[in-house]
Amino acid sequence: MNTLRRPFYVIAFHSGLIFALIASMGYGCVKKQPYHTESRLLMGTVVEITCQDKQAIQVAFREMEDVERLLSIFDDNSEISQLNKRRKLNASWKTLQILKKCKSFYETSSGAFDITAGPLVDIWKDAIEEGRAPSERSITRAKKLVDSNNIVIDEVFSTAKLSKRRMKLDLGAVAKGYAVDVAIRKLKEIGITSCLINAGGDIYCLGKKNNRPWQIGIQHPRNDSIVKNFVLTNRAVATSGDYEQFFVLQNKRYSHIINPYTGYPADSGVVSVTVIADDCITADALATSIFVLGKEKGEELARAFANVQTIIFTEDDLDV
Ligand code: FAD
Ligand code: MG
Repeated sequence: MNTLRRPFYVIAFHSGLIFALIASMGYGCVKKQPYHTESRLLMGTVVEITCQDKQAIQVAFREMEDVERLLSIFDDNSEISQLNKRRKLNASWKTLQILKKCKSFYETSSGAFDITAGPLVDIWKDAIEEGRAPSERSITRAKKLVDSNNIVIDEVFSTAKLSKRRMKLDLGAVAKGYAVDVAIRKLKEIGITSCLINAGGDIYCLGKKNNRPWQIGIQHPRNDSIVKNFVLTNRAVATSGDYEQFFVLQNKRYSHIINPYTGYPADSGVVSVTVIADDCITADALATSIFVLGKEKGEELARAFANVQTIIFTEDDLDV
């Protein structure tokens, strides 16, 4: 599976070339400070930060690295890995907050979004490696461990507990969005008013760039063309699709997003869903949920949230 994904292209005023062009055309009288862009490999993807303040970029990366250290299941020492191992943990405020948020998304999505899907995710990962579909028996067994009601949070004692043995949390569907939000919160605290963070397609547009909103383009799910452009200020975007991360087993294309009801990879007819929201964790969690629920129920879910827009491609749209 390809773990580097860039479903979005930040275009127009994000490009250094275009910026230089505008500057040389003498727009405005005040000399504009140049923007800098730095990329790092984090959370299994390329994270790109664009800001006028080089030090602020370092601050934002540090915040995101901290979140990765807390939440990554690829790091045995992270709080989530320790919780998966020991089933009870004195957890940091950030970990408790994201777990609480995830439980709330689980409820609003009627279980389509479920971070306890870890055992199912693992079964399907093994299946790819072995080149054969998992047995019905193993899926039924794993499904019994999937239920976010079995995550117990005690904010008074700062503990998180998993009620069932062999449960496994996997925060892959929201941790990038959360990390972006944490970094943006920090940047605001230190007085930054213009910045763009793109964590492999989980994006936040802080303020404007040179007094113009940031421009974002959505890529077609099956080719490199841009199908929609829009401008954003103080808004987040996230996408879930079957085109950057998928696997083929016995000639069938499977998504890496699991339908917790069936135990099988999501098969709702949605090939790509983009969500625009006020924060990145909401956009990220809703994108994954809608991918599971399908277009109709997904749009109904999105309407339960204030200020959320969706752009959904289904298999039927690809036939046109
Ligand atoms: P999204 O749609 O946002 O999420 C899909 C992911 O969510 C699935 O891959 C699965 O993990 C989980 N999931 C599946 N079904 C559901 C469901 N119904 N409800 C809730 N969650 C579900 N990749 C590497 O290869 N190496 C690494 O070291 C690595 N470290 C990472 C560290 C962190 C903190 C994070 C957040 C990710 C990391 N990744 C790493 C990437 C990770 O394995 C996933 O590929 C990635 O998070 C998927 O994000 P997405 O935006 O493509 O898809
Ligand atoms: Mg997501």
